Amino acid sequence: MTTQRIAIVTGAARGIGAQVARRLADDGHAVAVFDLDEAACQSVADEITAAGGRAIGVGVDVSDEVKVEAGVSRVAAELGPPTILVNNAGIIRDNLLFKMSVSDWDSVMAVHLRGAFLMSREVQQYQTKEGWGRIVNLSSTSALGNRGQANYSAAKAGMQGFTKTLALELGRFGVTANAIAPGFIATDMTAATAERIGVSFDDFKTAAAKEIPVQRVGEPADIAHTVSFFASEGAGFVSGQVIYVAGGPKA
Ligand code: NAP
Repeated sequence: MTTQRIAIVTGAARGIGAQVARRLADDGHAVAVFDLDEAACQSVADEITAAGGRAIGVGVDVSDEVKVEAGVSRVAAELGPPTILVNNAGIIRDNLLFKMSVSDWDSVMAVHLRGAFLMSREVQQYQTKEGWGRIVNLSSTSALGNRGQANYSAAKAGMQGFTKTLALELGRFGVTANAIAPGFIATDMTAATAERIGVSFDDFKTAAAKEIPVQRVGEPADIAHTVSFFASEGAGFVSGQVIYVAGGPKA
């Protein structure tokens, strides 16, 4: 039987994060749905509650130190001490290097790296006190390099170093930290890329699937399944790892 834990999933109003929130609730955990728009968070939380789970929606910009502190305190007060953290919030601001603005660079770093740092720093106080914790960070196959994504690939490679350091620092407190590097997952984020390059999302997915060994694109449930493993009681000896969930061995 699963021990009920309190989980926070960032960027969980839609896409991969929403599916991760639903999956952790199905696994028996209480879930705090964090995203920019509190109403959008609440509709995912309501869905979980309607299915018999425990959830709250919390409007938080993960790059804002004050909002992060307030949001995590609210979770502790309303659900209990958060011990599972999934740093999933993310944005893309793609452009070739010579056209990339400073704000394209800074906003990607702010959401992925500063956001994961602020959230982890806030949640680790509860994890270390409880003597148990799981941190799962969303990296990407783009960490290996991807044309038009100098900002995003640097952030996603940064998430891997950040993860390994958390594993080293927090292991003695019963806390593991691992990263998931998804390949192509069908969400609004990949739909936006299709739109930017001027192809239909269906054609984009069909072309991508041909290059993937398992011959299909990924779904949010593929990532949620991997998060569920890392968050599980039995995964306590797995830490500092990066798992590529990409339908094959490389991007
Ligand atoms: P998505 O559909 O665009 O969802 C991302 C969510 O993050 C959105 O709800 C967004 O809110 C939220 N968000 C953005 N900035 C935020 C902030 N400052 N604070 C809190 N929430 C914020 O993306 P996704 O495809 O599900 O991606 C989820 C994660 O997986 C990201 O880290 C992404 O980089 C990573 N990933 C995705 C893929 C893929 O193929 N889809 C591949 C590799 C890695 P708004 O809607 O209000 O902007």
